[in-house]
Amino acid sequence: MLSVDIKRTLPGFKLEVAFKVNHDIMAILGPSGSGKTMTLQCIAGLITPDEGRIELNGQALYDSASRVSLPSQRRRVGFVFQNYALFPHLTVRQNVAYGISHLPCQEAEERVQRLLATMHVDSLSGRYPRQLSAGQQQRVAIARALAPDPDVLLLDEPFSALDTQLRERLEMELLAIHQDFKGSMLLVTHDLVEGYKLGTRIAVYQAGAIAQCGSREEVFDAPADRTVARLTGVRNLMDGVVSGVANGLTLVDIPAWGITLEAVSRGDVPVGSRVTVGIRPEYVQLTYRDGHNMLEVDVLQA
Ligand code: ADP
Ligand code: MG
Repeated sequence: MLSVDIKRTLPGFKLEVAFKVNHDIMAILGPSGSGKTMTLQCIAGLITPDEGRIELNGQALYDSASRVSLPSQRRRVGFVFQNYALFPHLTVRQNVAYGISHLPCQEAEERVQRLLATMHVDSLSGRYPRQLSAGQQQRVAIARALAPDPDVLLLDEPFSALDTQLRERLEMELLAIHQDFKGSMLLVTHDLVEGYKLGTRIAVYQAGAIAQCGSREEVFDAPADRTVARLTGVRNLMDGVVSGVANGLTLVDIPAWGITLEAVSRGDVPVGSRVTVGIRPEYVQLTYRDGHNMLEVDVLQA
């Protein structure tokens, strides 16, 4: 279990976040400059918060009250950077072995071999980073981060520079790695589909704070507010008034469209409440049939 509760104030920016992750993949979504990278850097010990506590499996990595701040190499935290950040003067094998030089030679060698095989880069072990494609470099970077057997793996937009096909393959491999991996993963991503696919839990960042943190279903099906709705991909937001309940769904009159929608709501909402309803583009279907939640449209462009 990773538990984070930290504050860090800079001129013009304040980070104040608290969350817990327990053996899950937590996807961190949010606009550029909202503090996602800074959070990972605090957990990894690359920068120090002003106050708060970071705890990993019962051990304090950082605690301002008792003045604890473990150096980053003692934190059992793996970090995969956006730009891979492999050591250019080391081969693939040496890059992966870098963090485990304290292990007996044969054990280190076996572990490197196993990780290179897992990440499908064992045939490249003698190459230097400049001789690898972007996808291969990122595979090596993941192997290097896993080598010291960390308890938590932090990934900062790891696939953003890869093309769609390659990204999808690496996403699937990351899921497979998570099956074997006993720890938690934090995955910062710009890609909503990736966040939804990989993150069983989701944290939505906005201006240095967490606008919502919860299960994938909670965050995507019942966003806490308009900001979270927009940040998780809802395009159509409409004002409405609750007019009743039917089959566990909330009936909402949408005056602007002259219809009543059956909507999923965040908890019970009293009749007469003014609410906002959002429709995700992926839920919209064109049909000739009659039914619920129907809106008559003219197709202008196909
Ligand atoms: P994200 O990863 O969500 O895009 P970051 O965590 O990198 O955002 O940055 C959060 C904010 O902190 C940004 O507004 C950035 O400009 C600011 N920031 C980051 N590092 C520093 C620093 N050393 N000094 C001042 N501001 C910083
Ligand atoms: Mg960032």
